[in-house]
Amino acid sequence: MPDAITRIGFVGLGNMGWPMAHLLDPHYTLTVHDARADVAESFAGEHRASATTDLAGLAAASEAVITMLPNGDIVREVALGDGGLAAGFANGSVLLDMSSSAPLGTRQLAEDLRPHGVAVVDAPVSGGVAGARGGSLAIMVGGDPDEIDRCRPVLEHLGRVIYEMGGSGTGHAMKALNNYCSAAALSSACEALIVGDRMGLEPAKMVDVLNASSGRSAATQGKIAEEILSRDFSAGFTISLMAKDVGIAGGLAEGLEMEAPILARTRDLWKDAAELLGDAAGVTEIVKLWEEWNGGELGSGSG
Ligand code: NAD
Repeated sequence: MPDAITRIGFVGLGNMGWPMAHLLDPHYTLTVHDARADVAESFAGEHRASATTDLAGLAAASEAVITMLPNGDIVREVALGDGGLAAGFANGSVLLDMSSSAPLGTRQLAEDLRPHGVAVVDAPVSGGVAGARGGSLAIMVGGDPDEIDRCRPVLEHLGRVIYEMGGSGTGHAMKALNNYCSAAALSSACEALIVGDRMGLEPAKMVDVLNASSGRSAATQGKIAEEILSRDFSAGFTISLMAKDVGIAGGLAEGLEMEAPILARTRDLWKDAAELLGDAAGVTEIVKLWEEWNGGELGSGSG
């Protein structure tokens, strides 16, 4: 059995990665890296961690490297690109990819890192920035059971519940399917509200009724009033990342040669939204599609 993890490399200090690394900092010797070197330096300035621009050096200094990056292609580049993690990893290291990556790419990465003596565990998360700050994420894990056990103490600092899904890529598959459900619920709630608004129903009251009824979802319970009706839109999770996740779920269904029409429509809707509203738009800004199509802000009665 490999040694317990005491030294962690953390790559990707964005909306999610920063608060996650913050929770690990008191418990591990942490080396951090981000493509924005100033962000890694600021993190190191506020924590015990050291910052580096040298990925191979970060891997050499760590038993486990956590990646919290936009997508699996970037994780692959960070791991196997020139001067990447693979150039520094010691035999017996583990790459813990907590990004929402595509599951088949994760399997391939695990195969490609095996000859380097490196195991890959996929451990994507749900719960958003608030869950990352509070250490209350839901974590869905795929990979070799012994490697998952080795990573478990690390994950327990970050998550409220840890679900072991199966072999390599199964955590990433579960995450994509979860986000498809989340995206479909948010977009269908926006559509229902804008139709109700035109009918003369009051949006805040509709949210109350949905939340007391069978139409409720994480969207109606935490996003519509808080971010859409308030026009705050501070999701901390972008439309483009959600479009990527729904695209991964759609690609999975296609790869398995399945009929999944709602998934296909949801994927198209979110892809269009990402193109129209831009990379920086938060997920709840999707309501602006219906507002644009129907000529008025939700709550104006013209929806
Ligand atoms: P983010 O865009 O805020 O952060 C990504 C970070 O990665 C940035 O700091 C960026 O500079 C860095 N980065 C990009 N390319 C890099 C590279 N080649 N090398 C090193 N660093 C690089 O994204 P986020 O919201 O923190 O999301 C990270 C992952 O977590 C994504 O896969 C996302 O789908 C997933 N996720 C996000 C949320 C959320 O609510 N934000 C929730 C669950 C899962």
